[in-house]
Amino acid sequence: MNTLSDQAALVTGASKGIGQAIAMDLAEQGIYVFINYQSDKAGARHTVDTIISRNGRAETIQFDVTIQAQCEAAVKDIIQQRGRLDILVNNAGIRDDHLFAMMKKPAWEMVMETHLTGFYHMTRPVVRQMLRQKKGRIITISSTAGQMGNAGQVNYSAAKAGVIGATKALAREIGSRGITVNAVAPGFIETGMLQGLDLDKIRQTIPAGRLGQPEEVAAVVSFLCSSRAGYVNGQVIGVNGGMV
Ligand code: NAP
Repeated sequence: MNTLSDQAALVTGASKGIGQAIAMDLAEQGIYVFINYQSDKAGARHTVDTIISRNGRAETIQFDVTIQAQCEAAVKDIIQQRGRLDILVNNAGIRDDHLFAMMKKPAWEMVMETHLTGFYHMTRPVVRQMLRQKKGRIITISSTAGQMGNAGQVNYSAAKAGVIGATKALAREIGSRGITVNAVAPGFIETGMLQGLDLDKIRQTIPAGRLGQPEEVAAVVSFLCSSRAGYVNGQVIGVNGGMV
């Protein structure tokens, strides 16, 4: 593990999957990591226990990214406790796939609320703190679906394209203030989110011929969070085995 730093990070949806791998990689860099979860307390606890067993530092923080008051209270708590917040990873996500003709409004709304409105709920209070610090890294997990569209996922593709637009606009707005804002767009990554999909069929559409691993996304996020990535701003970095 790298030497401990005074930096603090918040990773939303870090109880499992990609968020868990990101949290572990950031902790490996010596960063204090807040592990957000919505309902999977045991998963979040496992993330923290694994980090601590590797001499890292982390704690769980429960909130729902669709509820503004909870997001604002969480950011306030973190700043009160650590005096700063250097890194925000907007990772929490869901899918609710339907052919568009069959898609009922709740499926549209919940996916938008989680990914796009969640970006607003989380990023705005964090940006206000980062502007005071004159330093920060904001990474949002988009998707190849937001870049090329995915049949059966009009809601998810729209939300993931939305966070790319928000990322690019915010990067221009605060790029002169020591803060970078980037998106990472994974392809098909082996997590619970792929449950129920025909993985053999999917593999045939990936030039690499295999699914990605959460750690392969985490490595890119950690780079974007590092001081070496200070001149990377407003970008969408694909981690997709060559799909886009
Ligand atoms: P996952 O294994 O299903 O994990 C999703 C995480 O999001 C869980 O920790 C879950 O918390 C959390 N979450 C969901 N709704 C939340 C809410 N309202 N508030 C707070 N946390 C919430 O999914 P994953 O594959 O790791 O996906 C992580 C991100 O990568 C998502 O944004 C997803 O869209 C994106 N992505 C995934 C893939 C892929 O192939 N897997 C590809 C491209 C992009 P609980 O467990 O506590 O409920």
